[in-house]
This record gives sequence, C-alpha cells and structure tokens, in this order.
Amino acid sequence: MTLENFNLNRVEREVLLSYQKNNAFPHTILVEGGTLSTRLSFARFLANMIVCTSISEKPCGVCKACIKCNAQSNPDIKEYGEEKVNATFKVELSREIRQDAFVIPNDGDKKVYILKEAQNMNDASENALLKILEEPPHFDFFIMTSESRNAMLDTILSRSTVISLKDGDREISRECLELATGIALSICESDELKTLEALSVLQAKKDLFEETAECLKVIFLDTLKYKQTQKNNSSYYEAVDILCNKLSVNKIYSLINTTDDLQLRFKQNANYNLLVTAMCVELRKAAGK
Ligand SMILES: [Zn+2]
Repeated sequence: MTLENFNLNRVEREVLLSYQKNNAFPHTILVEGGTLSTRLSFARFLANMIVCTSISEKPCGVCKACIKCNAQSNPDIKEYGEEKVNATFKVELSREIRQDAFVIPNDGDKKVYILKEAQNMNDASENALLKILEEPPHFDFFIMTSESRNAMLDTILSRSTVISLKDGDREISRECLELATGIALSICESDELKTLEALSVLQAKKDLFEETAECLKVIFLDTLKYKQTQKNNSSYYEAVDILCNKLSVNKIYSLINTTDDLQLRFKQNANYNLLVTAMCVELRKAAGK
C-alpha cells in the first residue's frame, strides 16, 4: 500500500512525503473525512509509516516493524476506541492512554496510538487526553480519526495536524469523465476553438465543475506519473498516453497547479462565466499554447 491508495489532495500528499523524507512526523495527527473504513486504514498506514525503520521510502514493507504491522502485531502500535461512528469513548480510556504513554516503546524507538473515531469523546475524555497531547514523551505519536474536525474541541485541534480524506469512493460520472478528457486533449491542439467547444458544456452546467476539475487533475497527475515511471496504469489510459507524448514535465506541473488554482477560485465563489473563460486561457497557457 502506498500514499496513492488514499484520496488526498496534492498538498497533503507532498507534506506527508516531506515528513517521510525527513523522518519527522507531527506528534498529533487528526484524520478526518472519507468513510469510516478509509479513515481507519489511512490511520494504520500512517502508523506504519511512523514506526518503519527504513531510511528511504516508508512504509518499506520489509523491515521488522513493517512485517509486524502487516501481521497486525506490532506492539508499538496501539488502538483505542470502537470502530463505530456513534459510540462512547470513555474518559477511563483516555486516562489509560495517558498512563501507558509514559512506558517506553517495546521494539523500536517510536510508539503510535490510534484513537478511533475521536468524535465519540466527550469533553471529559478530550480534556483527559489533552494533558498528554500537550507534552508527550518524545517517542509518542497520536493519530485520531474523526468524521470531521468540527467534532473536536479547539484545544485538541490546535495541537493537531489535520489531514482530510475526500469523501468516500465516489464514482466519477461518465459525463464528467468525458468532459475532462475532452478538455485535457483540446488544450494540446493549436486551435483554441477546440478548447472553447469542450468547455461550453461546462459553462452551461455549473454543477459539473467540481467533479470535472477533480477528474482533470487526476488525468494530469497520472500523466506526470507515466512520464516519471514509464508505466501507464491510469484509468484514463488513452488520454494519458496522448498527453504524455505532447507535454513536458514542466508543463504537466504547470497544468496541475493551474487546475488546483481554478478549483480554489470555484470554492471561493468566483464569477462562474469568467472562471470558465479563464480556464480556457490558463490551461492552454500552462500547456504552452
Ligand atoms: Zn519498514
């Protein structure tokens, strides 16, 4: 399993890669969003990343810590709380964690606590936990999962690095997929009309914007991956194949950034007609047209 298995945005993925590279992880991480099962598998993946002793890519899958993680028997990773969105996370549990946290790791030099569905904590449980989050022993790491950061006390949040998983395993609709592919291919054409044509559908259907832009970004990210690894495993195989031949790495980066920026402006409620017009100009410019 790699980071690519999880639905993260690009910035978060890069931040995580930098933690991995520097072997410096935040002591308290809150994983929000996604589904209950994606949150938990991501939390376990992160825990594995933290305890892995490889000096390059983590989790390496072959070190002693990773082998134990894969067998779900790493004594330095402990899970607390129920795998339910609605349950009670008792204050006694927080106190137990607080005591255990001072015990040095068993195998390695780091210990990870996975606190499942932390939205189930009441104020007393959170406050009991806060004491250890404020000044954790250097070997302790805490990963909480929660439906939403809004369910947590501000005092806990202010000590946490929040990582958001996007909602579920949402299927991209056929319409958005075709739209995104059409836009991606048109920006490499010398005739601007092709791009305008591809975008005219989007202009008329504002509700398709977010999904189409997301899909477009995946196409560009897959193209970048193909360029770097010479392997095309994309679900948008044909479009990625064509784009890879036509675009340089720098142009692909530029397209990813441009798409990020367009998505942000959409979220900030920019004038929609102007945004789609800008999309035509900016994507073509990023592609060197
Ligand atoms: Zn490892």
